[in-house]
Amino acid sequence: MQSDVLPGDAAQPVILIVDDSETAVIYLRQMLDEDFKIITAVNLIEFWAHLAEAPPDLILMDVIQKEISGFDLVAQIKKMNEYMHIPVIFVTRLETATDIERGFEVGGHDYVTKPVMQRELKARIRSALRIKNLEQELRLRSVTDYLTGVYNRRYFFEAVETNLSYVERMGRNLCVAMLDIDFFKKVNDQHGHEAGDAVLQHFTTTIRHQIRKYDILARHGGEEFTIQFFDCDIPKSVEFIERIAAALKSNPCQLEGTKIAYTFSAGVSSLKEVEGEHLIDKLIDLADKRLYIAKRTGRNRIVFEGE
Ligand code: GH3
Ligand code: MG
Ligand code: MG
Repeated sequence: MQSDVLPGDAAQPVILIVDDSETAVIYLRQMLDEDFKIITAVNLIEFWAHLAEAPPDLILMDVIQKEISGFDLVAQIKKMNEYMHIPVIFVTRLETATDIERGFEVGGHDYVTKPVMQRELKARIRSALRIKNLEQELRLRSVTDYLTGVYNRRYFFEAVETNLSYVERMGRNLCVAMLDIDFFKKVNDQHGHEAGDAVLQHFTTTIRHQIRKYDILARHGGEEFTIQFFDCDIPKSVEFIERIAAALKSNPCQLEGTKIAYTFSAGVSSLKEVEGEHLIDKLIDLADKRLYIAKRTGRNRIVFEGE
């Protein structure tokens, strides 16, 4: 495999050239390697190896190849979640309307016929990359909360839903916690709305540092947050939440010399406690009821039983 540069350098987008002709690969590489990082694949093994190692930012795909048609190969990757967002430009000698149509049908972003003109190809690549970046930003915005950058409620439901089926199948457990800042209204009243925003950011940053990478933190609304503890039981989840409380205590929010100390209350539920349909709703409902108990019985506490 001619893997000269590792993908991932933000400065130069990585382009994967897929063509079973060494000559064509060399020709395209020379055309582009001033502006882009070029990696190449002249057969399927090299192609899949590149994708597994580090997906490129864009693929230039030849159509007529010995092992498989470029159309079929693209149709395959467009069905795979991890690769479907990589824009593909077909670079081919096929130039009938039927071919071009097929290229777009299988998910191609653009279609260029050989012989290729350098400036045109570069312009098309840049345009495809621009659109790809915009799409990525949109995708991210649609699943995250603007103020804190954590996931939003919709994403949380979808992600937990997906994880539930996996966890159930494997006979494992999963917990949901609901955290609500105590007397948050007072923060706004005493320090202003902007300080309130800063506290929300401080809260989510603190939580992120205490939970694991595969746990999911989301803003449920206002000053209320949900956490999914993956493959976790109640005692372990409570331990994580206690760590969050301890971190807040030792590192309160500092804002222009003013210390804003705050606490939160939490309710926790586990998959083992619910059954039937709409498990995610039941988990959240149970955690919410326990959060309410925590509030009622004095705040700054974690409740994991009763309802
Ligand atoms: P409790 O301990 O019972 O939870 O009391 P609380 O004051 O924390 O809860 P309450 O629900 O009475 O008030 C929540 C406040 O959170 C009211 C609302 O203005 C404020 N809030 C909601 N979203 C935001 C936000 O994005 N930024 C700021 N600064 N405040 C927000
Ligand atoms: Mg509150
Ligand atoms: Mg509230």
